[in-house]
Amino acid sequence: MNLHPNTLAFLARSPHKLLIGGEWTPALSGETYISINPSDGTTLAEIALAGREDVERAVSAARSAFESGWSDMLPRERERLLRRWADLIAAHADELAELESLDNGKPIRHTRAIDSRVAANQLYHFAGWPSKMMGYTAPVSIPHQLVYTRREPVGVAAIIIPWNYPLIHGMQKMAPALACGNAVILKPAQLASLPLLRLGDLALEAGLPPGVLNILTGRGSVIGQALAEHAGIAKLQVTGSTAVGRSVIQASVGNLKRLALELGSKAPNIIFADADLDAAIAGAFKAGFGNSGQSCVAGARLYVHASVYDEVLARLAALAKQAKIGPALAPATELGPIVDAVQTQTILAYIRSGIDQGATLVCGGKQLREGAFGQGFYIEPTIFTHAGDDAVISCEEIFGPVLPVYRFESETEVIRRANATEYGLAAGVWTRDVGRAHRVAAAIKAGVVWVNSYDLFDPAAPFGGFKGSGYGRDNGLEVLEAYTEVKSVWVATG
Ligand code: NAP
Ligand code: MG
Repeated sequence: MNLHPNTLAFLARSPHKLLIGGEWTPALSGETYISINPSDGTTLAEIALAGREDVERAVSAARSAFESGWSDMLPRERERLLRRWADLIAAHADELAELESLDNGKPIRHTRAIDSRVAANQLYHFAGWPSKMMGYTAPVSIPHQLVYTRREPVGVAAIIIPWNYPLIHGMQKMAPALACGNAVILKPAQLASLPLLRLGDLALEAGLPPGVLNILTGRGSVIGQALAEHAGIAKLQVTGSTAVGRSVIQASVGNLKRLALELGSKAPNIIFADADLDAAIAGAFKAGFGNSGQSCVAGARLYVHASVYDEVLARLAALAKQAKIGPALAPATELGPIVDAVQTQTILAYIRSGIDQGATLVCGGKQLREGAFGQGFYIEPTIFTHAGDDAVISCEEIFGPVLPVYRFESETEVIRRANATEYGLAAGVWTRDVGRAHRVAAAIKAGVVWVNSYDLFDPAAPFGGFKGSGYGRDNGLEVLEAYTEVKSVWVATG
């Protein structure tokens, strides 16, 4: 596939710089890191490796942007700037899709149709909020007092995101943060920074004032940690693994930072006997193997009622064997590569552990190495049966194309097993029985339950985790609460 000229021009800018105070600037240390293309293992770009001293620069740029005009800009003016940025993202959607596909290996058919468009739509959605952030008058029982509330921005918000949905995750958090009047420091994952750096370009072109959006590329263990510790940051949003979530909780105690954590998952997907099996099987395939399983909401434990188990398993395995695996930029590719060599080894180790613990390998299980595959990181869609509920592949998040399938007999049993996890991000339920749909949706301990669909998102609908999947919500009205403080003002009228 021929790349868009803008994509080529952007890639030619390597080494890519940090965005601080409205300027593109190298790391003070001069250090860089390499980003690879997981489809073929080639070097894609060289990117500035920020250090703690760059965090200092970004925090002071963000602070001064926040204090000198952004937080108290007229709502209509802030809306106009955010909409202009969204217009530019929509206009450059194809090129953003190419950058994401090159950097993290997600198939171009998905980044084009979904990721880059969703990013623009998220921003359009939240761009309308500044003029609609209402307070209320509180009916207190104390005479001669007028009490009203104000929603005020928190201050400088640091946003740390993973590599699997960089455009969507980035915008899902930046858009509401900025709409609420906060200044932002974004820390993309090293494995997928390029599309976000291009978003930074477009933000400057849209006229976002210098320092309102800063982008620091580099190691989570260094700059992520420094952002979590920094007293100049009021709000920290982290999307990533539960281990990193725990680490930032500790790092952020100093100034009692407001935290929102979207973490790991091991989502159950349940097919009842009365389900529309065509839809359920296609849905289970997408849930388990979409983005090669590298999705926080992946339907990573598939429970199938005993009476339809054999049919579902056979048809699912047939889909897995037919799936078109290939480089991200090939238009026909359905499943792209794993993001890097490390993640590939991790997934292969999980597959070995499944076999070692006695699960039955139904299909897949291998890294593809023949021909052009050998240069990238490809793993076949892999299905296991007979994994014990306590097996490692049943309990831990694999973040790859590995799906254990379990047989169940009753609704009570499957609810118990579905909930027997430290996580609680998402779940799927497939049934034609309306009563059962609502019963099971209520019984599952997870932040989102899809009935007869999977993996749908919208900025109007809250999203986030129960239990070990974190706390705080993206989207919905909840996210606006997350990026504002509420103040009560008491005025004596007597
Ligand atoms: P990760 O290793 O936790 O990294 C996430 C981000 O945190 C990256 O930007 C990383 O930087 C940074 N980071 C690493 N160590 C840090 C530290 N000590 N302090 C602060 N930041 C630090 O996760 P990943 O491997 O990129 O992504 C996969 C994980 O994300 C999975 O567990 C998945 O479930 C989860 N996830 C959750 C959601 C959700 O909505 N709940 C969505 C997507 C993904 P570098 O890696 O660049 O060094
Ligand atoms: Mg990359």
